[in-house]
Amino acid sequence: MTTTMPRDLLAPVLDLDWPAERAAALGDEIVGLWTEYLSRLRDLPIIHPSSADQVRAAVTREVPDEPVPVGELMEYLRTLVFENATLTGHPGFMAYVSGAGTVPGAAADLVAAAINQNVGGWRLSPGATEIELHLMRWFAARLGLPATAGGFITTGGAMAALFGLAAARDVRAGWDVRKLGVAAGPPLTVYASSEVHTVNARACDVLGMGADALRLIPVDDDLRIRVDLLREAIARDREAGHRPLVIIATAGTVGTGAIDPLEEIADLCAREAMWLHVDGAYGGIAALTDELHPLFAGIERADSVALDPHKWLYTPHSGGALLVRDQRHLAQAFSVNPSYVHEDKELTRRGLDFYAHTPNFSRGFHALKIWVSLLAHGWSAYQRRVAHDVALARYLFDRASSHEELETVGPPPALSIACFRYVPRALRGDPAAEEYLNALNERLMADLQLGGRVFPSNAVIAGRFAIRACLVNFRTEATDLDALVDEAVTRGQRLHAEGAVRA
Ligand SMILES: *Cc1c(COP(=O)(O)O)cnc(C)c1O
Repeated sequence: MTTTMPRDLLAPVLDLDWPAERAAALGDEIVGLWTEYLSRLRDLPIIHPSSADQVRAAVTREVPDEPVPVGELMEYLRTLVFENATLTGHPGFMAYVSGAGTVPGAAADLVAAAINQNVGGWRLSPGATEIELHLMRWFAARLGLPATAGGFITTGGAMAALFGLAAARDVRAGWDVRKLGVAAGPPLTVYASSEVHTVNARACDVLGMGADALRLIPVDDDLRIRVDLLREAIARDREAGHRPLVIIATAGTVGTGAIDPLEEIADLCAREAMWLHVDGAYGGIAALTDELHPLFAGIERADSVALDPHKWLYTPHSGGALLVRDQRHLAQAFSVNPSYVHEDKELTRRGLDFYAHTPNFSRGFHALKIWVSLLAHGWSAYQRRVAHDVALARYLFDRASSHEELETVGPPPALSIACFRYVPRALRGDPAAEEYLNALNERLMADLQLGGRVFPSNAVIAGRFAIRACLVNFRTEATDLDALVDEAVTRGQRLHAEGAVRA
């Protein structure tokens, strides 16, 4: 059979190899878009009330055979940025636990992508690997973990939970789980409060222990785990032939920012020879600061800690972190040694390879945006801002508690979350109104979000639907919280008066 060659396959193909001048031209356009976004951010609506169909029509198109000219490409990106993005960096954005995204972090991401380091192997990313290791040791030291501690950047708190529990399982189960699987021993059990973030149950499920292996222990009035009931649950499971493996202490619950009694839980773990995992995805960042660290006494006794820079350290998505008390535990959980990456370290004098200390193989340089943000801002700016976020949450809580049509829900803020609800004057103190108030506030939250000026989310606390503001946004100030209060009241009044909601 003969083949015809339509063109000389050995002729240079330069289409993808943009020279520096062409990169500069595109870069200038992109920087222009970025800075326009920054300068207009405060005046734009946080979201557009478009439907999924409308957004899909606006942002998707056929993959072109030929290049889209830069002018048209920029128009396309403008549509994405200004009409089809949720402006999580807007000062009125205070939902979930989603940071605003540092400016130096965004710039650093361009550098990281430009040099395209593969932080799976030291030889492919020498500076990047050492920066990530250094950053992990710095986090660990600020938490009070020993010099043996280490860790790695994950895509977020969910993965930090998964791999923290994987390390616990592989180091502490008592048999070779990596080789034999979880079924080769007694059922493993994990303990956390009923306020624990749902990703921890999913981690148990993914790790083969089953989501039911996570025992949810009731909380006290401050939404902290009841250690007496925790102790009883562990004893009951031991008696039934289970193997209690991990206690997950939450340092800053996603609902209200409650911090479990870490010291008491650490004592219990020591007595029971169990692994202490601290879910600090939200609050763990506050534990890094001098002022708030005392609230987290006992965190330095953790075997592993999940921490999310993309939340309260404000860096762009995504970048969480898993810290472990002993870097060797990561090797125990994740080591591999395939022939195709083997090297003689004596000869090369190279450092640690993350492919053998993480569940990843190829990895991006996600540490740079965190590291460059720390360098560009300096640590005291973070310490001031984190403390300010806590003060703002207390301000909002106080405003809600003194307002005659608002009611606080849950305990006063331990960290930077405040919850309240709208209660029409006539329904104040009426126990029969609970169901209606839940429906009304759920509707109110959606109405506030669609309004575009403020964007809270919700928490359900002891059966009450609350509007929840979580302040991990360095652009939010007291005036934005005033706007939230004003909007909640005027929109609440209108929804109630219109009879828009049925219980
Ligand atoms: C946000 C959060 C998580 C999940 O982290 P992601 O970064 O969203 O994956 C887990 N636990 C707590 C307490 C959280 O606040």
